[in-house]
Amino acid sequence: MQTRIFNIINSKGCKFTASFLFLACNLQSASAEFLPKAAIDTNEIPEITISGKDQDNTPLPCYKLTEDTYFLYGNIAEIDDKNRGFNGNAGFIVTRDGVVAIDSLGSPLLGRRLLATIRHVTDKPVRYLIITHNHPDHSYGAIAFSKIPGIRIIGHEGTLAYLSSPNFQDSVDFRNTLIKKDMQGFKGIDPDILISGKRYDHQTISLGGKTFDIYNLGQHHSYGDLLVHQKEDRLLWISDLAFNNRSTYMGDGHSVQVLESIDWMRKQFPDIQLMVPGHGSAQTAPFPMVGNTYQYVKRLRDEMKKAVNGNEDLASAVKNSDFTDWHGVRLYDENHKKNANFIYLEQEQEAFSTH
Ligand SMILES: [Zn+2]
Repeated sequence: MQTRIFNIINSKGCKFTASFLFLACNLQSASAEFLPKAAIDTNEIPEITISGKDQDNTPLPCYKLTEDTYFLYGNIAEIDDKNRGFNGNAGFIVTRDGVVAIDSLGSPLLGRRLLATIRHVTDKPVRYLIITHNHPDHSYGAIAFSKIPGIRIIGHEGTLAYLSSPNFQDSVDFRNTLIKKDMQGFKGIDPDILISGKRYDHQTISLGGKTFDIYNLGQHHSYGDLLVHQKEDRLLWISDLAFNNRSTYMGDGHSVQVLESIDWMRKQFPDIQLMVPGHGSAQTAPFPMVGNTYQYVKRLRDEMKKAVNGNEDLASAVKNSDFTDWHGVRLYDENHKKNANFIYLEQEQEAFSTH
């Protein structure tokens, strides 16, 4: 194994080690057209080509964020022939007593390759998989983890509703068309441990000297969203509460909860050093991705509220919505009109329920 170390110094002078694991076998097979040299505080975006012909035991490119925390930095795009579901992030932490994985990538094949990546780094048992939310790009690799003896899979209680929803079936059908072979053996996974209770409640897991507080963040982006505080490292896995290097997507969830949850997170964790989002590079304080996502959602909520109050119809409000300063940001063109449509309908509902 050849390892290159890059040191990142952020504006506050904190030094992070972003060591980049070049694994001999993944260099030939990952077919990366471009891999950023670091994965913290960068706008560089990986361009990795996943082949349906790759073997299950082929590791994926992987970055080291701290001494024991590893990060898989996915492409930023909708699912396509090239990323085959590696269009979101995942990670894992190697503790004294075993491994905690966070998210499982977007297909059973990628789940197996994520496991192969873990195996390339350590032979310690994988004890937990935390699924931050149930969108396909984060959860469809979980089937590979479910076969590990003794593993506990942790998910939001909303997972159960998602697995019996039409959204779930539609996304599985779509993937079976696009990446049939990679989806072979797919099954939705009921978590062993459900995170439930009131919004912002948490459960704690401790393993090998590390503490993970897993918070219920309600349904800001999906049927149920989690946030993981990796306490000793002052690190937050924020899932899709904020997006880096791309625009947000509102298709499930509740935009008002996005704003509330960001406000809560800022108050709850004032001394966090590093945030790892579900999409885009990891980031150090002052976490511009959080402010950017907040401003985008708030602005679109204000705009759609004005449209609803002014009796502008849905089609024209969506057509007229255009944030020119977001042009050129990845997935803006694909998502903005859909977001406007979603938030217009929310605002209509909110206006209706306050009368
Ligand atoms: Zn996502």
